[in-house]
Amino acid sequence: MIQIELQVLSPQETDIQTQLYNMRLSEMEQWMESLGQPKFRAKQVFTWLYKKRAISVSEMTDLPQALREHLQRSTVIRTMKEITRQVSKKDGTTKFLFQLRDGATVETVLMRHNYGNSVCVSTQVGCRMGCTFCASTLGGLIRNLTAGEIVEQIMAVQRMLDEEGARVSSVVLMGSGEPLENYEPSMRFVDIITNPYGLNIGARHITVSTSGLVPAIRRLADEKRQITLAISLHAPNDELRTSLMPINRAWNVEQLMDAARYYFAQTGRRISFEYALIGGVNDQLPQARELAELVKGLPCHINLIPVNYVPERNWKRSSKEDIRAFVDELNRLGVNATVRREMGSDIAAACGQLRAQKEGRV
Ligand code: SAH
Repeated sequence: MIQIELQVLSPQETDIQTQLYNMRLSEMEQWMESLGQPKFRAKQVFTWLYKKRAISVSEMTDLPQALREHLQRSTVIRTMKEITRQVSKKDGTTKFLFQLRDGATVETVLMRHNYGNSVCVSTQVGCRMGCTFCASTLGGLIRNLTAGEIVEQIMAVQRMLDEEGARVSSVVLMGSGEPLENYEPSMRFVDIITNPYGLNIGARHITVSTSGLVPAIRRLADEKRQITLAISLHAPNDELRTSLMPINRAWNVEQLMDAARYYFAQTGRRISFEYALIGGVNDQLPQARELAELVKGLPCHINLIPVNYVPERNWKRSSKEDIRAFVDELNRLGVNATVRREMGSDIAAACGQLRAQKEGRV
């Protein structure tokens, strides 16, 4: 039954409360029926939650009083507390640090582009992928987020945007954590925010970024969703990639590229590759050529990201000249590649930095 499927937010709590943000519309419909209610109550609740941005069940005045009271007793809407908000003076990028029910913290970032507002959500507290250039993984994985906790990150940002009459137009699952390791909640999150009775964000405006969990990429491909798959590649061969990303020992570059081709074949969606340019490590012309060879024939876009400084390794970003030469070489070889514009550089908006600062790690 549905109650079993719904995740309990905190195992310590005896008073088990369901987070309303954690339910797909279909699940909420079944749940309403199990409560002896007509199915359409679920759409009413969805509308209150996502279109009217209700923060309390008491606002849902078109629900029968008995149902409202039941929901008030057995459910919650918000579970997190905003503890820091930083706004970039340069570009308006806004970084939020939220504290979850159990005290753990996660980051969420709002980026303002000329094509709309994009939100980067975290899918796990910490991460266990161990990528050598990433701050999110420094303390390991603490726990998975529930779908509701991921939805709540979006709703918090949306409420801020409401004050300026703006909306969240795109979402990237690119904050801390590996979304494909927390597969079911991440996809439940996608289903919830794309629902037309809810936020109605188009699947094509959602990007899931992975360090390369090959079986999960294939599973996602088979679901034929219209979301964009971003693959964190960062190196064109096994030797280099293994030295940067331990996951390459589990699934190597060839297996990863096969999965990327499979994703394209199943969904028709162009693949996005992320490639962090690290000075003197992976940013030289032979590597650009190897990369061009690797992606040959696959409709894709390569996002070159000047690496954010990593104190633990003393890794620095590539020089402006090397970045230019790298992107030019890829373009010359017919590869669609651009350098990602840096945002929020004045507010520690890079991956995991804010949380790491808070916890005294950097
Ligand atoms: N686990 C997923 C999503 C979170 S990481 C993944 O690996 O894709 C989001 C992106 O930021 C990834 O491409 C990651 O490799 C990149 N990243 C992490 N640390 C970085 C740094 N110091 N500089 C530039 N990019 C970084």
